[in-house]
Amino acid sequence: MFNSIKGRSVIITGAGKGIGRGIARRFGAVGCKVLLVARTQGDADSVAAEIGAAGGTARAFVADVRTAAGTQAMAQAAVDAFGGIDILCANAGIFPAAKLGAMTESDFDAVIDTNLKGTFLSVSACLPAMKANKSGRIILTSSITGPVTGYPGWAHYGASKAGQLGFMRTAAIELAPFNITVNAVLPGNIATEGLAHLGADYIRSMEASVPLGRLGSVTDIANAALFFASDEAAYITGQSLIIDGGQVLPESLAALDAMRSGS
Ligand code: NAP
Repeated sequence: MFNSIKGRSVIITGAGKGIGRGIARRFGAVGCKVLLVARTQGDADSVAAEIGAAGGTARAFVADVRTAAGTQAMAQAAVDAFGGIDILCANAGIFPAAKLGAMTESDFDAVIDTNLKGTFLSVSACLPAMKANKSGRIILTSSITGPVTGYPGWAHYGASKAGQLGFMRTAAIELAPFNITVNAVLPGNIATEGLAHLGADYIRSMEASVPLGRLGSVTDIANAALFFASDEAAYITGQSLIIDGGQVLPESLAALDAMRSGS
């Protein structure tokens, strides 16, 4: 149904775990050449080995998206290994919780530096290769938290995730003349290592608030990223897609109760 994107060069940040690993597996499975970027070498190596064992092409690269040196080295590694950069999935992110009053300046800076500045640095580093090709696809991993919803403890996180969408809209205009599109996936609650750290009570409460009755899988998000990277999505830019099992839809707890009771 879709044109093949086999052979395209893809950088995925935060690919050692969770959603990034799921995106990497998905792009690897359709024959893309994947550069897996994470801070932990062992994680990136094991995902690369897994993709290789399944017949795909993947390289592990250790970089910290908070630094220009790290993101520039990452972009250079993809150009050296694969001859260019067709697709960037700027996915690396952190979500430590801290309520206002207890949240420190360094808590705030850590989240903004990774999630928002890391997006800017990752995109900036990949632009020369994409502009040279007059082609590129950039997919940001944002969140429902910030752009659509709020949750106590995540004011800094919500600001970073909403900030990614503000960044995206102007980037999409600026990069349109180069045939580079910029779009975002907005996951709801997705079963990842990062989410598991929030504890069983949090996960149970989230499952109970999703109309489709389950947490999302990393493949649910990877499928949306793959769509934005496809030839068929060539005319879509500056857009965001919520993938949350309907979590943002109920107006109230009563709406969920009414759904469950069928009344
Ligand atoms: P995760 O399981 O904690 O994995 C995060 C990955 O990002 C790890 O490989 C981590 O590598 C990497 N990373 C973190 N900081 C980095 C940095 N400075 N430089 C390079 N890599 C870095 O997280 P996840 O749940 O998959 O979340 C991934 C993205 O989805 C984030 O942007 C998050 O905000 C977003 N999201 C997640 C959910 C969810 O429910 N899980 C919902 C909405 C949005 P190391 O472990 O080596 O540091």
